[in-house]
Amino acid sequence: MQDLIATVMDARLLDLLTRWRAAGPEAVIAEPAACFADHADNLLVIDTDGPGNRYSHYGAAFTRHFGADLTGCVIDVLPTDILPAERRGMLEFEYTFARRVKRPLWRSYTAQFDQCTETWQRLVLPVGDNRLAVGAYPVTAGAAEDQAAHLLRLVIDRVPVVLDPNGGIQDLALSLRAFCDTQQHVAELEVLATRDSLTGVSNLRHFHHLANLELDHARRMGRSFSLLALDIDHFKAVNDRWGHAAGDEALRAFVAACRVALREYDILGRIGGEEFAVALPNTGLDGARVIAERLRRQVEEMVVRPAKGDVFDLTVSIGVTACGGHDPQLADGLSVLDVSSLLEQADAALYRAKATGRNRVVVAAEG
Ligand code: GH3
Ligand code: MG
Ligand code: MG
Repeated sequence: MQDLIATVMDARLLDLLTRWRAAGPEAVIAEPAACFADHADNLLVIDTDGPGNRYSHYGAAFTRHFGADLTGCVIDVLPTDILPAERRGMLEFEYTFARRVKRPLWRSYTAQFDQCTETWQRLVLPVGDNRLAVGAYPVTAGAAEDQAAHLLRLVIDRVPVVLDPNGGIQDLALSLRAFCDTQQHVAELEVLATRDSLTGVSNLRHFHHLANLELDHARRMGRSFSLLALDIDHFKAVNDRWGHAAGDEALRAFVAACRVALREYDILGRIGGEEFAVALPNTGLDGARVIAERLRRQVEEMVVRPAKGDVFDLTVSIGVTACGGHDPQLADGLSVLDVSSLLEQADAALYRAKATGRNRVVVAAEG
């Protein structure tokens, strides 16, 4: 099997794999670009950073190819001008898979780049806790191959191959994407990747992505930006009293009530079981307080009817924080805060709302 891989794997990736194996499969490589210096131009180094990927090294080959240098960037999904939507899911899957199984993944992909169709081979190497080094080279079709090599080439064009510690094939990393032949499938995958399946609102990762885009926009335009942290009160008691299915129904009803209270461009995300967050673009502290209070009241007034005859209600506690705008202290926050630190502030306010009786709105800036 190793011989077969040696026939099909691009010689430069084979060299990279050999060096990685020499370092020991469990090795933590702090500086992959220095350790694999010969490959630095065709290497990405990616750490998970909260909900995003941090690119600490983005090889010159990629910079030339995609016209962007991502070194130092934290992004959750690659922008569509770098990678079309239909190929992003695949890449995310590979990164997540390699991190989880801590084994190298190898595959090839053929795509339209600028005007020409090219085939690249990619090798994803785990090089430490949550750190990946990804080597990729454009390849040209090899000389005449025997049937087994031809078959392997077809396989790695379709699915990533998991390599074992000896450099042979351990498994195929089968993915949903491998079975997606239509744009509709791809669109469904996009929904899976960004939406919470129970309530349909943005999931944690996508919420961070959208909220950070809005925060960047606020920063560029000198606008204000607010965040709400929401936690449904005594939700465990709802499950205990009415059952888990009724709890699920209550979460959907809660989201519907939030939507009534929010504006079209506000961003609602589910960031935990019964925890939600709202990003309020172009909204200062006073506006955020009004919206939070409207939301709290909307939830208080709704009723949940999980089954015939059953009826109960919910309340929610809300923490509010803001940055930007005219207040000098809040204006400073716009340049130094990110969505995670704003959420921490809103969470601290939420905690006070819980401690002082629940079903209330507390503003972070107010002692
Ligand atoms: P508090 O007012 O302090 O927030 O009390 P709480 O009971 O809401 O808080 P706690 O964190 O103790 O319990 C949260 C509950 O939410 C526990 C968990 O079973 C429930 N929960 C989380 N996710 C889901 C879900 O998707 N469906 C249902 N039905 N329940 C969920
Ligand atoms: Mg909670
Ligand atoms: Mg709760």
